[in-house]
Amino acid sequence: MNKNTIANADASPRKKSALRTLGRAALGFVALIAFAALALSAKPLFSESLDLKKYIVAKADAYQALPVSGPNFKAASRFAHGLGRYYLRGRTAAAIVAAYAELARTHPDYHYVYGEMGWKGGGRFRPHRTHRQGLSADFMTPMLKTGRDGKAVPARPFYNALNLWGYRIRLDGQGRYKNYQLDAKAMIAHLAALKKTAPRFGLRVERVIFDPPLLKLLRADPSFAQLRGLAFMKNQAWFPHDGHYHVDFAR
Ligand SMILES: [Zn+2]
Repeated sequence: MNKNTIANADASPRKKSALRTLGRAALGFVALIAFAALALSAKPLFSESLDLKKYIVAKADAYQALPVSGPNFKAASRFAHGLGRYYLRGRTAAAIVAAYAELARTHPDYHYVYGEMGWKGGGRFRPHRTHRQGLSADFMTPMLKTGRDGKAVPARPFYNALNLWGYRIRLDGQGRYKNYQLDAKAMIAHLAALKKTAPRFGLRVERVIFDPPLLKLLRADPSFAQLRGLAFMKNQAWFPHDGHYHVDFAR
């Protein structure tokens, strides 16, 4: 045995034990994150959710979180809710919840998922460029899938970390993603409900961002007439708005 081999044989167990310690630390870290995610999903640390029945005009501009779920809607991520990423001005949150209540009456078979909103108190909300004033909201695009009888039925796509809670879902030019299809009627009904409820809370829908090629699919639906007067952004935004759409409200 030469000197080198002896040195290697000597270093190797030490290296192995260092790797083992590192492995254990990494595992512990992952377990800690998973535990924090679970805990936050179960009991939000930073979110006080809006209760529409207790809404008062005096608090219209104070920040409130959207409820994590309701009869016909839910947040894309319970974890993000726990982190406090679903805050809006009270009036914006109220208009959104009231729109869901309206839809529960008019279209009880539709179910909606909302996306990112903003921080309590507003300010820079990474990675978004807007969402700073409690007046911007993201919604996941309602989808259909083909049922057993070949008819299209409302789908509930699964939003998780792998598809970045829906933000990585890319629709093709025909509004398709895997076996899902853009549900133009459900999306139009949602925007129409927002347009209707916003003025009750001293707001109006200022602008909607949805990718122009997909907007054509919405315009092709006769129910699009309900959205007359709504402003849609004409150009492509910096980030694809296909798996979700963005709504700016204004006072
Ligand atoms: Zn947005």
